[in-house]
Amino acid sequence: MIDIKSMTIPELEELLTGMGEKKFRAAQLFQWLHQKQVTTFDEMKNLPGSLREKLSQEAVITRLETERKLTSQLDGTIKYLYRLADGNHLESVLMRYKHGNSLCISSQVGCRMGCSFCASTKAGFVRHLTASEILEQVYAAGRDTGERISGIVLMGIGEPLDNFDNVMQFLRLVSTPEGLNLSHRHISLSTCGLVDRIYQLAELDLQITLSISLHATDDETRDAIMPVNHRWKIGELMKACEAYTQRTHRRISYEYALISGVNDSVEEAARLAALLKGSLCHVNLIPVNYVAEAGYHQSSRQRIYAFQKALTDRGINATIRRTLGADINAACGQLRREAMKQE
Ligand code: SAH
Repeated sequence: MIDIKSMTIPELEELLTGMGEKKFRAAQLFQWLHQKQVTTFDEMKNLPGSLREKLSQEAVITRLETERKLTSQLDGTIKYLYRLADGNHLESVLMRYKHGNSLCISSQVGCRMGCSFCASTKAGFVRHLTASEILEQVYAAGRDTGERISGIVLMGIGEPLDNFDNVMQFLRLVSTPEGLNLSHRHISLSTCGLVDRIYQLAELDLQITLSISLHATDDETRDAIMPVNHRWKIGELMKACEAYTQRTHRRISYEYALISGVNDSVEEAARLAALLKGSLCHVNLIPVNYVAEAGYHQSSRQRIYAFQKALTDRGINATIRRTLGADINAACGQLRREAMKQE
């Protein structure tokens, strides 16, 4: 079956002309799928009956079914657990800020990167999400809240650059004027640092924000918590980041999860500042979320502030990420794991 919601307008044009239809039908079809978000071809009233009939036989319209929804009483954060057509689960989180709604979406079912502090990777990797499954997370949250999603972060379950083609297709679809028409400037993509893919991404020269999950400043520490570092050392990663900013002129955001006694000393902060000196960057400090298997604990507030100060004193812009949805305590990967346990 054709996954029609994963197709761009030029691809639909090719499909439809191959079926003997006029080119302009592609934009109409795209609008039904991506703006009106209908669930059947029958509803596409301005398309010829014969075409609707043919499409119903040959194509499917991806739609996410909400299995669970948790709303924070503290800050309105919403966590969604969806069931996919093949029974797999995926999660998204809607965060409400003064400047608008930001949605954190998943790119894979599970993850194969194996970071020691991350819940998403513990149950292993199942499969890549299709472009339409990535996109439907955005549409489903919009349908549920009736509000516009003004920003997207690819920071949920999965490694987006490990699912490169589908994620790039998603970026094309979400910014299409006949669809959601969301500017790439409002999208962040977070990676644990697949260096070959960072170069590939740089070539595309997109306006998205690249976030690098760094979490350590020396190879020994990073090797111990992030297996990807065995493949590409910090030096190689930083070189790729430099090439990325040179090509795109976009500021890179570095994620740094502070783990008590592992990577949170002021010496570490000074090393981080030295590593980033002179580059167009921003550091996002994240108090690590507790994950039972890893046994890591959050650094004390005092240590977090000291780390931040050590950075800003050296001219590196650093903010501490606010914890949202603490009462629905379901940091990424956790709802899916609960659902798997129940099955
Ligand atoms: N695979 C991508 C995106 C998903 S993870 C990546 O690695 O960037 C999104 C962010 O959450 C990453 O910065 C990741 O390192 C971080 N993260 C994962 N587990 C965490 C935890 N227990 N506490 C704090 N941050 C965590």
